[in-house]
Amino acid sequence: MDIISLRKRIDRLVHTHSSSLIPEIEKSGFSCACCGWCCCRNFDYDVRINENILRPSNAISIFPGDIRRIIKMTGCKWDEVAEPDMYSCVLEEEDVLVIGWILKRSNEENCVFYRNGVCTIYSCRPLICRCYPFFMGENGIEIMYCNSLKEITVHEKVHENSVKISKALKRYEIKKLQSYIRIIEQIGDKLKLNIDSMKSLPDDFSGNVIVFDGEKISKCKL
Ligand code: SF4
Ligand code: SF4
Repeated sequence: MDIISLRKRIDRLVHTHSSSLIPEIEKSGFSCACCGWCCCRNFDYDVRINENILRPSNAISIFPGDIRRIIKMTGCKWDEVAEPDMYSCVLEEEDVLVIGWILKRSNEENCVFYRNGVCTIYSCRPLICRCYPFFMGENGIEIMYCNSLKEITVHEKVHENSVKISKALKRYEIKKLQSYIRIIEQIGDKLKLNIDSMKSLPDDFSGNVIVFDGEKISKCKL
């Protein structure tokens, strides 16, 4: 991951019209069934990022802007909305450097805003939640696990959703790549941000960490 190739990817995306993503999204027949699967921890479908990182489905990466929007709408404090992303860490001598934030999880290991079977912050939910189950890979759209994917005839609702998701997906991907660049700049040359060298912290980890989120550097206790 280097700044020049990230900038090239951003440039390509900026010149990609979001409508070109619609057919692929429509083809999946996706229309969210609001089952809450992606808001909760599910052990059967963990995603392996590299040899050291088995990322559970409830590790939902969010941007500082998402956190501020939720704080504004809910009146929650920062640490009631977000926790350091313990699945994206670099161990640097005595320090644990954490790359970014994930949505805060409840004692039941669900997103803390998933209550009684609904998203309680739906209108201000993070950008990533607006895109799920779609992500942009290097070679186009990738589809994560979802309970509501089926081959169906495209009807008006599917089309309407696909248009919204295509716009959110483009926005999310550009924001994500810009944020990688800022994090690389924050961390500086002393550390190469290499996905293969990143690690998860053990579930029972307790101690201080330093979070780099592209905007500020925060010291937190886990
Ligand atoms: S798993 Fe799919 S259908 Fe269920 S809430 Fe998530 S996006 Fe919607
Ligand atoms: S913010 Fe809402 S949509 Fe996103 S994971 Fe939490 S409950 Fe689900």
